[in-house]
Amino acid sequence: MDLDGARQRLIHERAALLAMGHDLATSFDDIVAAAKDSNLDDEHDPEGSTIAVDRSLVSSLGRATVDRIEQIDKALARLDAGTYGRCLRCGAPIGGGRLAARPAAQTCIGCAE
Ligand SMILES: [Zn+2]
Repeated sequence: MDLDGARQRLIHERAALLAMGHDLATSFDDIVAAAKDSNLDDEHDPEGSTIAVDRSLVSSLGRATVDRIEQIDKALARLDAGTYGRCLRCGAPIGGGRLAARPAAQTCIGCAE
């Protein structure tokens, strides 16, 4: 298994996710600022409901990004521990193709289903 390649992919993906998370945080701040600037007394303002939808969308995207970064951190820890590439559930090797597609995969295909 190409552990150095896996590590590089994980580090690269982590950096991309952090950048995406930063963009999301920035847009979330913009949305909050826009909500504060708008007339909050008018609860029937159609703009207000749009802002509420955007906020929940951004925050759920943000949570998904944080989850993925956590998975990558765990995968990097398994690389350091020498257990990378083994299914956390059954202990079998995770297929190389699966790891190529999902470097942070924690389980083999059989256990993931
Ligand atoms: Zn398994």
